Amino acid sequence: MLELTHGRIGYGPITIVEDLSISVGEGEAVFLIGPNGAGKSTTLRGIVGLNPLTRGTLTWDGRDVTRLPAHQRARLGIAAVPEGRHVFPQLTVVENLEVAARVASHAGVKERIDDAFDLFPRLAQRRGHLAGLLSGGEQQMLAIGRALVQRPRLLIIDELSLGLAPVIYQQVGDTVRELAGSGLSVLLVEQNARLAMRICSRGYLLSNGAIVLEGTVAELEATAEMRDLYLGGLGKVG
Ligand code: ATP
Repeated sequence: MLELTHGRIGYGPITIVEDLSISVGEGEAVFLIGPNGAGKSTTLRGIVGLNPLTRGTLTWDGRDVTRLPAHQRARLGIAAVPEGRHVFPQLTVVENLEVAARVASHAGVKERIDDAFDLFPRLAQRRGHLAGLLSGGEQQMLAIGRALVQRPRLLIIDELSLGLAPVIYQQVGDTVRELAGSGLSVLLVEQNARLAMRICSRGYLLSNGAIVLEGTVAELEATAEMRDLYLGGLGKVG
């Protein structure tokens, strides 16, 4: 269970999100949506430990991790898929997975990689290909695979759909939904509200560094704000 309470996160002296409270329960898939520049990626950076919280607290399984560095949060089971994937382009698919798997532990590397291949058979077919030559969808699968081989308990994905065709992000999204169904906690940061609502059961709408709406998918769908956002293009049909 992740709980960010009254968080303030920014860059040096600049505050981007203020008094932000969100939570992700065990095995729950939760989305954080909002327009460009709302502060979604900044929030993620605060959660994974790349930007410090200058106010508020972050707890993970009841333990205060507010001051823990990023690598220690990763050891505790918080894994993130960054916006733009950031796979190693000069390494093959399997090498990318090996590097990520070894960061977590040297034991059971092959089993963890095989599990990632079971989840994304497309990656298994491409195992010897250079990551830089993969399609955008394959790179997203690889980026998620790199997080999963660390056997996280919380998977954070920044902009799953970015730059992908609808048929591809829906496929990847369905896999993420299955993962959540099998007990993994997921925090999905998305600009595509429809996709976020397809994958997750609950979520938050962030605007200008603050949560303006929260609730279950059904509750949010019933609000005028969400309908306006769909019409305004945030919820690209997906
Ligand atoms: P997007 O969908 O465009 O990524 P976002 O909701 O993820 O939007 P953030 O990337 O968190 O938004 O950016 C929120 C604000 O923080 C923006 O005004 C941005 O200019 C600012 N910002 C981002 N990175 C930095 C930085 N390194 N230093 C200062 N300000 C930054």
